[in-house]
Amino acid sequence: MKVDPIKDTTQSTTNDYSVGVDLGGTQIKAGLVLDNGDIIADLTIPSQANDGAEVVARNIAEAIHSLLDEIQATDRNLNSRSNESSNLIGRQEHVLGHLVGIGIGTPGLIIPSQGVVHFSPNFQGWRDIPLVNLVQQQLKPGIANLPIHIENDGNAMAYGELRQGAGIGMNDVVCLTLGTGVGGGIIIDGQIFHGNRYVGAELGHTIIFGDGRQCGCGNYGCLEAYVGGGQIVERTRAKIIKEVRRSPGLENQLRALTPQTIAEAAVDGDPVAIEIFAETARYIGIALTSFAHILNPQMVIIGGGVAAAGEKLLFEPIRVEVQQRAMDTNAESLQIVAAKLGNRAGLVGAAMLAQRQA
Ligand SMILES: [Zn+2]
Repeated sequence: MKVDPIKDTTQSTTNDYSVGVDLGGTQIKAGLVLDNGDIIADLTIPSQANDGAEVVARNIAEAIHSLLDEIQATDRNLNSRSNESSNLIGRQEHVLGHLVGIGIGTPGLIIPSQGVVHFSPNFQGWRDIPLVNLVQQQLKPGIANLPIHIENDGNAMAYGELRQGAGIGMNDVVCLTLGTGVGGGIIIDGQIFHGNRYVGAELGHTIIFGDGRQCGCGNYGCLEAYVGGGQIVERTRAKIIKEVRRSPGLENQLRALTPQTIAEAAVDGDPVAIEIFAETARYIGIALTSFAHILNPQMVIIGGGVAAAGEKLLFEPIRVEVQQRAMDTNAESLQIVAAKLGNRAGLVGAAMLAQRQA
């Protein structure tokens, strides 16, 4: 398997590092992450989710072994060629400190204190899977005793953004992820908020209209039922087909619409696309107003594919909506910003959790 090249590591303070694993239904992304958040090597392999938890655990262990083999080989190489110039710019001899632990972020109802995946929608048949134990059993003797921390992927992403992304220095943060679904995580006093049965922070199911559109969860009027990727596309199609609205930028590609193509059309001045994003921002602003009143966070960090629509289409109108709706004290100090780590947030967050546990 291919390991991506080593990157600059010069700003780390101790050079201690951990392994971050982002376990999804189709892929395992794994990386070695320094205590400053730099990913010094990473790789992606299939998770083989349908072949059962033991196979997935073995794949995670293999990914970790590959990363460590690569980094050790590079270290040996650097030591033996220390006077030669190297394409591994910025890496020095003995650059790595201690490997302090492993963190795994994955979708579903995760019980971190037990190392258990109680239930995961992305892994068919997974019920009360002791994933931490299964991975430990597959690790080589030298690293089998490392602490492994497991966390819900939305929570891991929020923690990644808090520690190494847009939320550095913050304590109370809500992280909202706008993708196919709408998820997120809540950080209170620098700690992940789990809720009593580990199912808190279901931010996509914040109700914004009591009698609104039906959501995939069965309820009505959830945020996700309006601003999930598929729902943005569906709302756009409805305007063009049912309301017979003219949309020069989109009406010829109705079957190929994505939030990205709609955003591009909005930038080009398409009236339907502009309206769709104005509505999308308004819906998100309504939800954020509730977050501001309930949690009074310092910052809301918004990431995911839909957030790529950017400042003008999304963030500025969201801020206006919150300012108009929220009580002054709740609104005035609230920062609403874009996520910084992109699709690395889960991996980095999982790795940071492992370093916190160490
Ligand atoms: Zn819902």
